[in-house]
Amino acid sequence: MIRKVNVVTAVDAKAKFKLSLLCTYKYIFYYDIILIIDKMEGKKLAKLTPMMKQYMEIKEKHKDSILFFRLGDFYEMFFDDALTASKELEIALTARNCGQDEKAPMCGVPYHSSKSYIAKLVEKGYKVAICEQVEDPSEAKGIVKRDVVRIVTPGTITDSEILNEKENNYLCSVFIDDDGLGVSYVDISTGDMYTTEQKDNLSNNINTLIDELAKINPTEIIANNFLYEREELKQQIVNRFNVVLNHYYDWAFDLSTARKAIENQLSVISLDGFGLEDSNNSIKAAGALIEYLNETQKQSLEHLNTIVPYYIDRYMVLDINTRRNLELTETLRDKTKKGSLLWVLDKTSTAMGSRMLKKWIEEPLVDSDEIKNRLDPIESLVDNVVIMDDIKELLKEVYDIERLVGKISYGNCNGRDLVSLKNSISILPELKKLLIQEDLNKLSVLGSNMDTLEDIFKLIDDSIVDDPPVTLKEGGIIKGEYNKDLYELREASTNGKQWISELQQRERERTGVKSLKVGYNKVFGYYIELTKTNIDLAPDNYIRKQTLSNSERFITPELKEMESKILGAEEKMTTLEYQLFLEIRDEIKANIKRIQKTSKIVSTVDVLSSLATVAFKNNYIRPSINTEGIMNIENGRHPVVEIMLEDGQFVPNDTLLDNKDNRISIITGPNMAGKSTYMRQVALITLMAQIGSFIPADNANIPVVDRIFTRVGASDNLAQGQSTFMVEMSEVANILNNGTKNSLIILDEIGRGTSTYDGLSIAWSVVEYIANKTKIGAKTLFATHYHELTELEGKIDGVNNYRICVKEEGEDIIFLRKIAKGGTDRSYGIEVARLAGVPREVINRANNILKDLEDRDINKDNVKEINVNEELKESSDVKEVAFTSYNIEDNNIDKDSLQLDLFAVKEKELIDKIKSIDMMKVTPLDAINILYDLVSKTKEI
Ligand code: ATP
Repeated sequence: MIRKVNVVTAVDAKAKFKLSLLCTYKYIFYYDIILIIDKMEGKKLAKLTPMMKQYMEIKEKHKDSILFFRLGDFYEMFFDDALTASKELEIALTARNCGQDEKAPMCGVPYHSSKSYIAKLVEKGYKVAICEQVEDPSEAKGIVKRDVVRIVTPGTITDSEILNEKENNYLCSVFIDDDGLGVSYVDISTGDMYTTEQKDNLSNNINTLIDELAKINPTEIIANNFLYEREELKQQIVNRFNVVLNHYYDWAFDLSTARKAIENQLSVISLDGFGLEDSNNSIKAAGALIEYLNETQKQSLEHLNTIVPYYIDRYMVLDINTRRNLELTETLRDKTKKGSLLWVLDKTSTAMGSRMLKKWIEEPLVDSDEIKNRLDPIESLVDNVVIMDDIKELLKEVYDIERLVGKISYGNCNGRDLVSLKNSISILPELKKLLIQEDLNKLSVLGSNMDTLEDIFKLIDDSIVDDPPVTLKEGGIIKGEYNKDLYELREASTNGKQWISELQQRERERTGVKSLKVGYNKVFGYYIELTKTNIDLAPDNYIRKQTLSNSERFITPELKEMESKILGAEEKMTTLEYQLFLEIRDEIKANIKRIQKTSKIVSTVDVLSSLATVAFKNNYIRPSINTEGIMNIENGRHPVVEIMLEDGQFVPNDTLLDNKDNRISIITGPNMAGKSTYMRQVALITLMAQIGSFIPADNANIPVVDRIFTRVGASDNLAQGQSTFMVEMSEVANILNNGTKNSLIILDEIGRGTSTYDGLSIAWSVVEYIANKTKIGAKTLFATHYHELTELEGKIDGVNNYRICVKEEGEDIIFLRKIAKGGTDRSYGIEVARLAGVPREVINRANNILKDLEDRDINKDNVKEINVNEELKESSDVKEVAFTSYNIEDNNIDKDSLQLDLFAVKEKELIDKIKSIDMMKVTPLDAINILYDLVSKTKEI
């Protein structure tokens, strides 16, 4: 029985547990066996080399990470880590003697190029634990102490070479249970941290979580067990957001532990001042996040000194499909910024501004005063373009202060970073002057609140040379005048070097050898070199040091003395410079909050200037914002399409929607006419207005909407096992379940993914439901090729027909792109197919079939006979309706109307089939099969 136990190789807790079950079953003594195995393992470890033993001990604590174990100039990986890393990084797998019979699989990457390897592993979803020497080898007794100094995970990357400078890299923490949700997220490269919560039922909390994640777009999520155990939800999150989702200890989400963690991080004794007092779920999510940072970063993060709590309803809610459909930050097709709204609006000068603008676009506001607070300064800038250009020019000098501050806090900044900070700060006084001038009165608050950080500028300017090296320990960073000791050492070294450079001339004159040279190398230090032919002329005090093929090298006692003075001074200088650098860095670190406050103001000015620049260049106007639900846009344009087209080609269009007679526009028109473009244009104009931007129109009054919903085109959920139609219907369900009278709904051809009649019925009843003020009553644009829906105008209050006009010229159609009142009854699909290059033969045949179908009048007039929903009819929204004969929902079918024509085609098919039977060739068995087939087909009718 014990032999069975020997197969257990890794004696971890899980294995021991399994073993205990086995033992109970087999009636053997568990503890005896464990003892045996532990002894075996102990023996195994005892056989390991000391270095390998150290490795094993550290690895044991970081089982879920790939351990980068520092050995000299390399990070080495062993055993399973080596197998994984060599495969993922495509590097050679070798082996190393580890004290046991078999060698340990090993692979390694050079220290100096490790960043890219770490990035590659992290991008693939692995955690990388960086293990360094943590004591000075010269002071080590036995093997040098090593420990993990940092764990790099997708959400905790800080390396500016790896991060996209125009995007935040968010790590998100989710706490969820039956009646609550807490979401917190942080970008540790900048120190921005936010937290929010919701108390609702589980299903609503899950919906909100998905919407929040769509907005945050994190690269890594940690979650409590409640979420982690829900396999389906977990998979949905991982697949939808392409994110690494890890379970984190439930104790970290415990309220009092979490509260303590936050208080420690923010160095406060109460969270009252942060607006978090009663926000338990916010605290739980944020506290766990900080716990996780402590565990992985293993150092204090001073730039993470505030948490911004927010209410979910402070921003317009945009579900993931709407964000994608409206191509807010990337295009649907190629996932590129070019072609997105962000691409049009981003004329920022700094990376921080670019990140802030992206956040604004992801979070449109719903408070009209807040919106006004952005529109006002943009207006000031648009009215003063010269100042606006000056501001933009100044901002070009500004580096990514937020991430520089992050580096300073992390302690991994170098001299060049400080110079970049200094250069950025240098423009602040000038910027402040521009902002507080009278013409820009709406920006003056920002200007007067701006700390110009002159003391920090002076500190760096006085101390750091203008072009410092990247390294910190090789000197050349600190200005000589900054420190007396450094000055003296530098003098000594310079004088010494001067003495040596004059030595060559002196010795040439003394020896009469013109080719005599004074040189330096790292092994022998300074020397005097004579060619072989002149060796006899060497004076007596020359001491022979090195013989080369054509020359001899000598030293003299004075030369050695001077050399030790120079080298001594240089060594002291580099140590002193390093110390001074650390002091300067710490002094800046103590001012991090001030610098962060200024960088937020600079970013805001940058975003406002960007929006003003775009407004000016693209002829945008300031929208009026109302809370009465009135949308009145004159000559609106699609902000992206108009740029893609040549000047003047885009045809502007009006929009009128309100809470009364103009709630739903049914938009018909040929394929390619511009229906989708028009509807997206309305959604984008609304969204732009709510981020506080000017908009592409001649005049506009925009209502504050709580949500924009879009149901447009195919989605990418097919990979998750849903059919196209299922995806379409889930999106429709989401809209119907969550839309309110303050929402804007964009529906593009819903129902087209199924049979004509199913689709039409769904489309029809969806319009009814949305139109019903007691149900939704939202402002809606509904594009459709079901021309039957135009029948709803006049039957339901608030529904109006619009069409996108075309002109027929012979066989051709000319797209006018102009929207007009009224419906249309043709889709010109075949014409568009012809334009798209479908073969003539297919086009001709399609035209014949169309004519045939139209002659049969399959669906035209019959649909007029559909009653509107009884409930609606009773409500005041519905006008008197004269049609009564057919209701699609009951099966009361009038044989003379719809049913007959609807199935005429199927009957014809049956007749054709019977006609095609060749009785002479049919066997009795065939006859039974044919009969069976015909009967079943007949039943379908
Ligand atoms: P379908 O019914 O086939 O989906 P559609 O009516 O939704 O077509 P869109 O996709 O909106 O048509 O537009 C087709 C093309 O027409 C767009 O790619 C765009 O280039 C051009 N277009 C749309 N609107 C305008 C406009 N207002 N001015 C100029 N060009 C436009």
